[in-house]
Amino acid sequence: MSEAIANPLALIAELTHRCPLHCVYCSNPLELQARSLELSTEDWSRVFREAAALGVLQTDFTGGEPLTRPDIVDLIRAARTAGLYVNLITSGLPLDEKKSPARKLMPKNSVSSNGSNITASPLL
Ligand code: SF4
Repeated sequence: MSEAIANPLALIAELTHRCPLHCVYCSNPLELQARSLELSTEDWSRVFREAAALGVLQTDFTGGEPLTRPDIVDLIRAARTAGLYVNLITSGLPLDEKKSPARKLMPKNSVSSNGSNITASPLL
């Protein structure tokens, strides 16, 4: 007798290995993959659509530091468009950089934060 395997409910999206911090306990392989070899916005968008089609409900953006991706807003929008709930696992550090694309996440009511996680609302 075999039981059907339930579809996954969450997708852990490891967007980059880059990170501005140097935590002593870090197991992130900083040099494993060059930035130029990271998956493109289009590739991730396809992954989000395919995941949603499989029944995935939520994606957790992680890394490294996901906010170092210059296309982070586009990635969030792509995941939201696919119907996924988006959770950012971040130090929030790039939000302090004036030229960071991640600052677009800062308008009031578009994000909520509990210190290490940011949840993107449907407004984005
Ligand atoms: S924030 Fe995370 S990825 Fe960055 S150095 Fe610390 S443990 Fe590693």
